[in-house]
Amino acid sequence: MRKEILKSVKRVVIKIGSRVLTDADGALDLAVIGRICRDLAALHARHLQVVVVSSGAIAAGRSELGLTEKPRTIPHKQAAAAIGQSLLMRAYEEALEPHGLKAAQILLTSEDLVNRQRFLNARATMDALLGFGIIPVINENDTVVVDEIKFGDNDNLSALVTNVAEAHLLLILTDIEGFYSADPHHDPEARLIPLVKGITREVERAAGGADSTVGTGGMATKVAAAKKAGKNGVPTIMVDGKRDGIIAAALRGDEVGTLFLPAAVGLNRRKHWIAYTLKPSGRVMVDEGAREVLLKRGKSLLPSGVVRVEGRFDRGGCVRICGPDGVEFARGLSDYSSAETARLVGKKSSEIDDILGYHYGDVIIHRDNLVVL
Ligand code: GLU
Repeated sequence: MRKEILKSVKRVVIKIGSRVLTDADGALDLAVIGRICRDLAALHARHLQVVVVSSGAIAAGRSELGLTEKPRTIPHKQAAAAIGQSLLMRAYEEALEPHGLKAAQILLTSEDLVNRQRFLNARATMDALLGFGIIPVINENDTVVVDEIKFGDNDNLSALVTNVAEAHLLLILTDIEGFYSADPHHDPEARLIPLVKGITREVERAAGGADSTVGTGGMATKVAAAKKAGKNGVPTIMVDGKRDGIIAAALRGDEVGTLFLPAAVGLNRRKHWIAYTLKPSGRVMVDEGAREVLLKRGKSLLPSGVVRVEGRFDRGGCVRICGPDGVEFARGLSDYSSAETARLVGKKSSEIDDILGYHYGDVIIHRDNLVVL
């Protein structure tokens, strides 16, 4: 099956974690970077387009600053990232150069991807670079983004980049063989799982919490990334990035690491952006009848099905849609602001004009702007 899937891969996002890129002392491991770049060159020679999402800026900066521990305060992390990012790029440039290849740095913040215009610009830039045969090397813009360091991680970023770059595969290089039935550091019974057909609650439970001392993510963030990429119809392969030749093996379809199959029906790119890139700012609670029609019949949300509005959002804002149990089951872009929606709770669409004195349409959230999660 792997070989089948890999046949159609023309563009791949390769996510390289901090623990792959650094040695035991936390400095950039130039030998590993050299091997990775040699493999990237081999892919390039096969006309595969590669987009790299690379961590390692904070780790490299920390080592350059002579800090023995992972920086704790935000300004220290940002200072480390500022120093480390240029070292990281230099390492890629020097390792690609003997193969006649060049790298281009792209630093993104989540706001760049939330704004549709900037998202499309980022896509156009990536396309142009790939057209020139250059390898984009993406990282989060750690020096200006506080959120990233607190909550975000490059696993998540790499899943979003599969959407920006319209890639066919996400390859995650980490410091462990693949996905295990339990944490292999603590459980001797833990088995490597070569194929994950669907990301169920059991899979998520087995992934547990974050455990990294160098990067930000752990197994849980990798499984979350595979799920996100999978919603877009993109499979994920996770392998041990320190192993020589692993990139070539994974892209050949060898049974290495873990393959996560994508959800059977991928969301279209725009719906994926609504569901996973935008940050929802409020909640619309709906009754059971509305939940049924949204879930089973793919309809729009009408004001008559809304029972309550929580939080504040503008017209066009992204909102969570929750059922009577309070659980979010869908997300969408609202045609009316929170204040307007609150006035329309339980009303018929034909009453909108009378109540507001104007009318943007009959629905609160149109089905084209609505994604069931
Ligand atoms: N952007 C961070 C760095 O380059 C890494 C974040 C992560 O490891 O997830 O150091």
